[in-house]
Amino acid sequence: MSATIIDGVAMSRALLEGLRAEVAELREHYGKVPGLVTILVGEDPASVSYVTRKTRTAHELGFHEVQENRPADISEAELLALIGRYNADPDIHGILVQLPLPKHIDETRVLHAIDPKKDVDGFHPVNLGNLLIGGEAVTFRPCTPAGIQEMLVRSGVELDGAEAVVVGRSNIVGKPLSVMLGQKGPGGNATVTLAHSHTRDLAAHCRRADVLIVAAGVPKLVKADWIKPGATVIDVGVNRVGFNETTGKAILAGDVDFAAAREVAGKITPVPGGVGPMTIAMLMQNTVRSARRHLAAENGKA
Ligand code: NAD
Repeated sequence: MSATIIDGVAMSRALLEGLRAEVAELREHYGKVPGLVTILVGEDPASVSYVTRKTRTAHELGFHEVQENRPADISEAELLALIGRYNADPDIHGILVQLPLPKHIDETRVLHAIDPKKDVDGFHPVNLGNLLIGGEAVTFRPCTPAGIQEMLVRSGVELDGAEAVVVGRSNIVGKPLSVMLGQKGPGGNATVTLAHSHTRDLAAHCRRADVLIVAAGVPKLVKADWIKPGATVIDVGVNRVGFNETTGKAILAGDVDFAAAREVAGKITPVPGGVGPMTIAMLMQNTVRSARRHLAAENGKA
């Protein structure tokens, strides 16, 4: 039997509707709306496309939305100064620097320069540290892992006691996600294996998974016979495998052999239309929550 498709587009739409109502409520209560600045350096087509989707969504939700596009030869000092300006701007509650940055700029230094209270991507070490502690300490969950966790919960996937296998150990997806799924509480309580490029017999690990999450950046890495029948499969991979001359758009493929995998899995996410839209929705949620915290503090109600 074919797997149930976890529809990230529909799920994100529902989430964004809820956020739209929250924006209206903040406007009513404080006379202010969430403020998000997106900083894009250079013109890498994938980065331009990601930033465009983020700014469009922020705009649609009624955010105070600022775009800062800078040439690829901007100096690190200029970029740090720009971040400093928005750290001090009371109308901005979220600062997003689109990665990757050009080679002459130290990405770590830039991410560390963002005020952790405005770090809506959740990449600052203070926020990653709080994520590791868990519970009340968590301020910002990184957007992609948060979107995945949200999808699992909203799809009714049983995580408590489940075998979860995460393939890929990046700081933005695999590593934080492996921590989040293993934390105590809803959306957690799984027994997590973090697999990566040095894992021996990846297929054997995948076959044990009740919940398999793949973020490796290798098209069709995971084959149908690596999947336990009935398992939930979350495909994070976004691989540009070609170019459609008619639409003028890149042809995308995930890290899972979708057509074959859907005949074995119980639930599966498509690419595109799975994790991507949820990542954007979680960025918006982080910004709304940040705005709420800042506005409450400014109004002496923190
Ligand atoms: P990355 O590209 O920084 O690193 C890849 C990870 O996969 C590494 O930890 C590596 O150890 C592991 N890996 C690579 N080849 C492997 C193999 N053959 N076997 C086992 N492990 C292997 O990771 P990333 O930044 O998390 O990106 C991964 C994929 O997810 C990319 O395709 C990226 O475009 C996509 N992505 C999608 C979203 C989204 O919102 N949809 C967000 C972030 C990343």
